[in-house]
Amino acid sequence: MAKQEPQRSCLGCRTAKDKRELLRFVLAPDRTLVPDPQGKLPGRGAYTCWQRECLRTAAAKNQFARSFRGEVRSGGADALIARVVQLLEERIGSYLALANKAGKVVSGSDTVAEAFKRRTPGVLFVAADLSGESRERFVFLADRAGVPVVELFTKDRLGALIGKEMRGVAAIEQSGFITTIMTELEKYRNFVREGCSNHE
Ligand SMILES: [Zn+2]
Repeated sequence: MAKQEPQRSCLGCRTAKDKRELLRFVLAPDRTLVPDPQGKLPGRGAYTCWQRECLRTAAAKNQFARSFRGEVRSGGADALIARVVQLLEERIGSYLALANKAGKVVSGSDTVAEAFKRRTPGVLFVAADLSGESRERFVFLADRAGVPVVELFTKDRLGALIGKEMRGVAAIEQSGFITTIMTELEKYRNFVREGCSNHE
């Protein structure tokens, strides 16, 4: 085995895992429970698996209060879950913005279609509110080329992330960004999965 990582237990299912594989929470000074998906916030952490069910169980059984020895303000399981989803979406968006700054993003129907002819992109973003026909066209292109499709952002948001007017599609070219973004995406998909088919 590789070198031992520090282990922590999930407050939901009690499974011990490598700390970095778990979703971290910290307590703000006003005792608000704050998700810390990047594991960077100061203070002691409490952990759950990257699973909604574990987070729900932990909240329902008051495990965060136990872990932080006193009442915590969380707004309940659903609010926590929504916050984590939002943070994950923001993070994926920020990688798109970074890739754009590095000159690795193409956008707009014609340019993206052209990009598929030249060299298969690493990830394709399709706006969640793109019309049916356009959406089908690009999802088909991506499927055929084995390119993962991300449908998290509206046209407005997609454009804003790359400093443009609204965009229906944007693609990140093959680059170092792809591995990172795919890791975040997998986390996201895993987290939103159960009983939430509209994100699949
Ligand atoms: Zn768990």
